Amino acid sequence: AKQKGANHFSFYFDELNMNKAKLLILDNEMRKGIDNKQFTLMYQPKVCLTTNQVMGLEALIRWENEKLGYVSPNEFIPYAEESGLIIPLSELIIDLVCNDISYLHQSGFPNLQISINISGLHFQQYNFLQSIQTILERNNISAKNLELEVTERTIMNNDADTIRKLVRLKQLGFKIAIDDFGTGYSSLSYLVRFPIDFLKIDKSFIQHITAFADKQAVVDAIIQMAHRLNLQVVAEGVESIQQCNLLKNMGCDYIQGYYFCKPKRIDDIIDFLKIWEIE
Ligand code: C2E
Ligand code: CA
Ligand code: CA
Ligand code: CA
Repeated sequence: AKQKGANHFSFYFDELNMNKAKLLILDNEMRKGIDNKQFTLMYQPKVCLTTNQVMGLEALIRWENEKLGYVSPNEFIPYAEESGLIIPLSELIIDLVCNDISYLHQSGFPNLQISINISGLHFQQYNFLQSIQTILERNNISAKNLELEVTERTIMNNDADTIRKLVRLKQLGFKIAIDDFGTGYSSLSYLVRFPIDFLKIDKSFIQHITAFADKQAVVDAIIQMAHRLNLQVVAEGVESIQQCNLLKNMGCDYIQGYYFCKPKRIDDIIDFLKIWEIE
């Protein structure tokens, strides 16, 4: 037993050291990666269920690093938030998005709405509005082209500052979406007070929805409520025609997921859009 305990301890200790070492590398590589613009974006279309048109694209960050290989945003975004690196990283993302919007305009797609995932930490910076506006102006991009996806958690402490920021963003022309809707633990009261345009139903509600009546009931209720509040609904993580048809029958407005298109680099998205328009 003693032996076992010792082994257990040393294993635990090693694991701890490994994580520390890995964190140090992650920190280092992220700093370098931000400086060298190692981060790239992929885009995933949002399709309107009534017109069958592509309404917009969601920008999703990707990071391929020589030491760490492919690192998922689910791994490095939380670290970026913890370390504060999310601020320069977010500014890089917005810059990259602006660049791609210009490219989309040149390629004959002037009316697509591009959504950006906004980190709570970035949103809560006192100069968030200033920082995003500066980048847009530098790139000559209008806020009308952009939708900001914020999570419930980001706007949960519905203080005067949050409301003021959201109202100002709307005045500037941004659209606002609540991301991962249904996974937060907040009250729904903010839906009444805040100037929101879209609810994005989290993909955990869409997974296996065709097999579970209770999931259908929740999604149906979200759609009804959203429409009563004049909000539009986007379902994310739609992978099958069955899910698509179910959501269409429930009156869901937009769909995003592998069923239509996986996230792709901008050139491949432009090819996808050209084919989509013809069909
Ligand atoms: P999210 O905003 O909820 O993004 C949706 C995630 O679902 C994306 O994962 C997307 O690739 C994936 N997805 C899309 N369609 C399907 C589908 O049909 N089935 C399944 N199973 N998954 C699908 P990804 O790109 O790995 O991003 C993970 C999360 O990382 C995002 O969740 C978002 O919270 C965060 N993230 C991604 N890009 C950015 C960014 O530029 N800035 C910030 N702050 N966060 C980002
Ligand atoms: Ca999102
Ligand atoms: Ca989600
Ligand atoms: Ca998310």
